[in-house]
Amino acid sequence: MELRKISVRQAAEAVCNGEPTAHDLIEITLKNCSVINEGLNIFNYIAGIDAIEQAKAVDRRIESGEQMPLAGLPVVIKDDICYGVLPTSFGSSAFKDFISPHTATAVERVMDAGAIVVGKTNLDDMGMGSTTKSSPNGPTINPWVPGYTAGSAGAAAIAAGVGMFALESDSGGALRQGASHCGVIGLRPTMGSVSRFGLNAFSSSFGQVGITAFSSENIISVLKIIAGYDPRDSATSICTDRLDEQNSTPALKDIKIGYPVELIDYLEPSMREIVEKTRDEYIAQGLKFENVELSLFREALQAYYVIAAAEASSNQARFDGIRFGKADEASSLEELYHKNRSSTLGREARRRSIFGAFLLSKGNYDLYYRQALKVWDMVRREFANVFKRCDMILLTEVKKLPVSLNEDKGFLDDWSEDLFCAAVSMSGLPSLTLPAGQIEQFPVGIQLVGYSFSEELLTQVGSRLVR
Ligand code: GLN
Repeated sequence: MELRKISVRQAAEAVCNGEPTAHDLIEITLKNCSVINEGLNIFNYIAGIDAIEQAKAVDRRIESGEQMPLAGLPVVIKDDICYGVLPTSFGSSAFKDFISPHTATAVERVMDAGAIVVGKTNLDDMGMGSTTKSSPNGPTINPWVPGYTAGSAGAAAIAAGVGMFALESDSGGALRQGASHCGVIGLRPTMGSVSRFGLNAFSSSFGQVGITAFSSENIISVLKIIAGYDPRDSATSICTDRLDEQNSTPALKDIKIGYPVELIDYLEPSMREIVEKTRDEYIAQGLKFENVELSLFREALQAYYVIAAAEASSNQARFDGIRFGKADEASSLEELYHKNRSSTLGREARRRSIFGAFLLSKGNYDLYYRQALKVWDMVRREFANVFKRCDMILLTEVKKLPVSLNEDKGFLDDWSEDLFCAAVSMSGLPSLTLPAGQIEQFPVGIQLVGYSFSEELLTQVGSRLVR
């Protein structure tokens, strides 16, 4: 069964009919994972006998008459999402063998629906980054362009055909930029629609669990399984249990896309060309476009990094070697902290811990953190204004093509690539990444941002726009 060519529904039906059995499908997927991993460095851990045992259990459920919407389908999970069977490293060498005592709600839900976890995917140091370059295991290679970053290992896994879908985290764009670089579809859902219980979010305000897959249909099928209220994540209690379901498929001519006039000014010429071509093709397919003003991308990026670093600094305080982290021997409490934090936190995590502590210190709190909160509010209002007139907004994930794995332009260059993604994260709105074309051999995506809980509309439109 070719995972890239088939829908979740068709694949689950095939497994329920024993063609193939869950056992056979998972056995072959695990072999493929090992082979693909040698060249691309996608996985921190590949599941073994436990995945086979789970597949056998799914086959038994099928034999006893149970129908499951994800029966026997292989899922890959980013390694900052807890799964109590395999280790969860959070991208940190200090947590290499850490087995979480709990499993994330999103993972539990797909497993209840019959999915089988085949591997944990690589990520940056504590999830801080969108390139995997700061992973202690080394970067994941782009399946289309060797020598360049895949952005996210989950997207690489889907592009390489070793998972039916991936559950990934996205704080400021990791999932979306990965989908863009690997030519697959990615969804960052509305904040509050998917439980974050079991996600190690370095930024509590922006970290979200999303989905990467090969089609928009597959994305919405999985979203409907993982979304909804979870008593273990109080942030989900503010949302309704149901997504904003569409009773009928809207005609493309009834959809109006907001086109931020500022967008083009930030893009490299080749990216600009892709965006303009995509807009023209969408217009030819019937969508309406209206120029809109979103003027705060730069401020949003700065505010995102202030808030995300402040939260990372507070969240990482628990990795002190006493509650979490390595407990080294030390002669004083200060030495214990020093030893543990030096060995637990990688370079980027340390940078953000120190930066965040600085931002939250007396005097700086009002100067930076409080100002950033004001920008956050302004960004939300700016997006909300556009949705008074439009159904969606067109943006890109990045400004330019990725730099090669050997090239290091410094952390500010990496941070500045989040210009559009960070603003969308601040808005809390859902965003669907769609392949838009190719520059040389590089896949390039665009993101369609929707209003809250409009994922069904986004994926219905997205499924008809894939180029
Ligand atoms: N590049 C962004 C950051 O480093 C986003 C990372 C992410 O989404 N996990 O904060």
